[in-house]
Amino acid sequence: MIMKITEFFRNLPKKQCKECGNEIEEQHECYGNTCNECLHVTEI
Ligand SMILES: [Zn+2]
Repeated sequence: MIMKITEFFRNLPKKQCKECGNEIEEQHECYGNTCNECLHVTEI
């Protein structure tokens, strides 16, 4: 089954943090699926 990436993201309501599950506001795509709080934790 082939799905267009654009449609795939359109179906996504919001980004969700893979760590805590909080909704992520679209700010920096480079952050992936992790919210700022979890990023601070992961960051050394
Ligand atoms: Zn998080």
